[in-house]
Amino acid sequence: MNQPTLLVVMYHYVRRVEGNAFPALHFLEADTFSRQVDELRRRYEMATLESALALLRGEYRGRRPLCLLTFDDGVKDHYREVTPVLVDRGIQGLFFLVTGCMEEQVVAAVHKNHFLTAQLGFAEWRRRFLAGVRGLGLEWPAVDAATAARTYPWDGPEVAAFKYGFNFQLAAAAREAVVDELFAGEFGEESAFARQLYVSWEEARRMQMGGMMLGGHTHRHQALATLTEREMRRDLEECRRILDLRMFPQQQTPFSYPYGKRDSFTAEAVGQLRELDFCCAFSTEAGRNAVGADCYALQRVDCKQAV
Ligand SMILES: [Zn+2]
Repeated sequence: MNQPTLLVVMYHYVRRVEGNAFPALHFLEADTFSRQVDELRRRYEMATLESALALLRGEYRGRRPLCLLTFDDGVKDHYREVTPVLVDRGIQGLFFLVTGCMEEQVVAAVHKNHFLTAQLGFAEWRRRFLAGVRGLGLEWPAVDAATAARTYPWDGPEVAAFKYGFNFQLAAAAREAVVDELFAGEFGEESAFARQLYVSWEEARRMQMGGMMLGGHTHRHQALATLTEREMRRDLEECRRILDLRMFPQQQTPFSYPYGKRDSFTAEAVGQLRELDFCCAFSTEAGRNAVGADCYALQRVDCKQAV
């Protein structure tokens, strides 16, 4: 008999073509999402966090391989489009929230990059950003093309190299200074944009009432490996504190690493997550998980490759 396995599928933006002000944004169309969920539940036993962890401990084996659905970044799409589909089918989704974005109504730099790219087109956005970096008297970092391609397998080489320099290599303060100015120039007040982009705590609690599970995705959405030990602790403690303050109590709270490739987090990060009582953590390394898998480096498959 085959060994039991756990497939974890990850999603980001899920929206409808109509009513979406950013047609150039990379998103999964909402009807494609619900069809995909139906296909997955034909092939798999749909897991809860509890059954998934039991399988990994070797204490549970389903009649079919297990499949767990996960959603990063706490965008409103997850409340509007995803939760109704899952509630309707009695499936639990895991939703990873960026606590700082919700609490302080700020837009994470990673998302500013997505929306400025969608608004201006990649070439123009990159041109303006690099000019801003030069304006600060800084050099754009030399980006290793292979590392960038591994981190962003769905993007072409130019976009991947830009995203890697932007999210991983440029000093956070410089990145924020330049991107904040350009973002404000295009979209006006950041807090209004943030309120439209992310779920509110009220919505997050309603998702919990519908059977959904919430988890942490850091406070500021920075790659943990780029932070000092102290910065990392401050970020993760704040993420945990706000989750505990705002969400309905959960027996267990999972975590998902921003960016999520193996080099985006460290052993120190895993240690801190354990101390803060996050029960497991999901990476973006592609693969299926077998019994005995490391619960703090769980592998996922992007929704584009799930079925
Ligand atoms: Zn993320």
